[in-house]
Amino acid sequence: MRMSERLRRFCKYWNGYDQWSAANKAIARAFPDLPNAAPPIDLKALARRRGVRDVVYGELSEDGHIVESQGGNYIIVLNSAHPESRQRFTIAHEIAHTFFFEALGKEYRDPIDEVAHQHYDEEEKVCDYIATRLLLPNESFTSILKSEGFGAAAIATVSQKFRISLRATARRLVAEAPVQVAAYFWEEDVESGNFIVRWKEPQDRWSKRGDQQIVLSALEPAYQVFRRAEDFRGRYWLSLGGPQDRYFVDGFCLSNKRIRYLTLVVLNGAAERYFGLSTPHHVAIEAQGSLFD
Ligand SMILES: [Zn+2]
Repeated sequence: MRMSERLRRFCKYWNGYDQWSAANKAIARAFPDLPNAAPPIDLKALARRRGVRDVVYGELSEDGHIVESQGGNYIIVLNSAHPESRQRFTIAHEIAHTFFFEALGKEYRDPIDEVAHQHYDEEEKVCDYIATRLLLPNESFTSILKSEGFGAAAIATVSQKFRISLRATARRLVAEAPVQVAAYFWEEDVESGNFIVRWKEPQDRWSKRGDQQIVLSALEPAYQVFRRAEDFRGRYWLSLGGPQDRYFVDGFCLSNKRIRYLTLVVLNGAAERYFGLSTPHHVAIEAQGSLFD
């Protein structure tokens, strides 16, 4: 079956006008109580309700996969070497595949395992979309943003409460932000004392591997602010790979031994209207940093 045909059947079965609306309806139908679930979301319980008999761990080269077991149930296999937050994302992604299996029917169930991961890009995107919404239901996200305020601190809070990596949480916030923002994860380079961007969301689509690193050195005005290892918010002169500009930056200090920051940088829009000028209450982030990737 061609991909478009698989998607068409998925939309029809879950009664959506496109794959995203079908995905939202599938989630709502399968897990009507999800918006009220306490964090972190119990993914193994969700998996059981989708007919997953067991979640097992193995030495894999990929993130994980789902296989049919005897009796028509499923088994999810996870990469045992991955950190918890990544395994949680993978379980959620594999649960999402069951919505396709249900919609496509038994005759179209092949390819059921990692083959699907290689050949059905569109389907994979829908499964990622569903995964992020199982890990962090829309309603919970909206209510946290309301209570915490929009900003880097809210990303840290959500990441910690829902056991989602900072990066995945940042990606979600950036995608749904009312202004054009980008999130940067900075880490102090112990030898040089510079701050280096380890990841950025959204990623530049056009950028290739081996692109120039974004580095904040002592020559730049914002450097002294980063050195303080405290939260900050306001306009700062900064270079983000291009010429310096006076960006509105919301900085959340993740750790102060080896200094790490999560910053939200407003790329355009009236930043002050969304952020206000005072920094929000600081939440402590676990020291071992398993959510930092
Ligand atoms: Zn997949």
